[in-house]
Amino acid sequence: LLDGRAAVVTGSTSGIGLGIARALAAAGANVMLNGFGAAAEIAGTKDAIEADHGVKVGYSAADMTSPDAIAEMVTVTLAEFGRLDILVNNAGIQHVAPLEQFPVEKWDQILAINLSSAFHTTRLALPAMRKQGFGRIINVASAHGLVASPFKGAYVAAKHGMVGLTKVAALEIAEEGITCNAICPGYVYTPLVEAQIDGQAKAHGISRDQVIRDVLLAQQPNKRFATVEEIGALAVFLASEAAASITGIALPVDGGWTAH
Ligand code: NAD
Repeated sequence: LLDGRAAVVTGSTSGIGLGIARALAAAGANVMLNGFGAAAEIAGTKDAIEADHGVKVGYSAADMTSPDAIAEMVTVTLAEFGRLDILVNNAGIQHVAPLEQFPVEKWDQILAINLSSAFHTTRLALPAMRKQGFGRIINVASAHGLVASPFKGAYVAAKHGMVGLTKVAALEIAEEGITCNAICPGYVYTPLVEAQIDGQAKAHGISRDQVIRDVLLAQQPNKRFATVEEIGALAVFLASEAAASITGIALPVDGGWTAH
């Protein structure tokens, strides 16, 4: 489906980003990984994806708060793969606090990683995509790009911003064979979520099932986590030729959360 394509997935050393990177590789794309983590573990992931799918896998340690590092990541990708077809802006962090106590430096960091990095990767990737006459920009936003929850001021603002950026990019590149779309997951099952289940069960003295149903998935009508494989499959579809007319959307993958 994506044979010969080259992809960059930011924040792909774990969770959703890694799931998307694996899915793109399984569909035939060469992939540039990015994110933090232990060097040996990242090297292992890189080798495993290469061995499993017979594609080239690179790694950039670029910190998404640094425009210079982001530029370097795009340059290295073009040098290694000779093209850049698929850009997945996925890196993101969370911090929970009421607005009047929200640490100012956390606000700046979340806006930089969750929103501004996507502006930088997009502006830097577009010249190559325009030259190719093909490009797919996929922004991993959130249900929180469409609706709000208390105490997540920076995250909700950044994710709403990402949905806005998605629409602007889509309009500017609509005639160039390049699309830009946002995926808006509700709760996705990742190691971080798993850690929260046990933590909350202990904290509230309730069962894992109760934590999942009544605490974590309180907003999610289908009462099930999406999987990283489901998000990966959607990314592959959006990156494919079949999705050529889909652009500027913010697609909820949230079990009905934003249907409320
Ligand atoms: P995760 O913590 O498992 O992965 C985050 C990735 O981003 C890691 O690879 C990490 O190293 C990387 N990262 C963090 N800061 C970085 C920086 N400064 N520079 C470069 N890389 C950095 O998280 P996840 O749950 O897989 O989330 C991935 C994305 O999906 C985020 O944007 C998140 O907001 C979004 N999302 C997650 C969920 C969910 O339920 N897990 C739901 C909706 C949206």
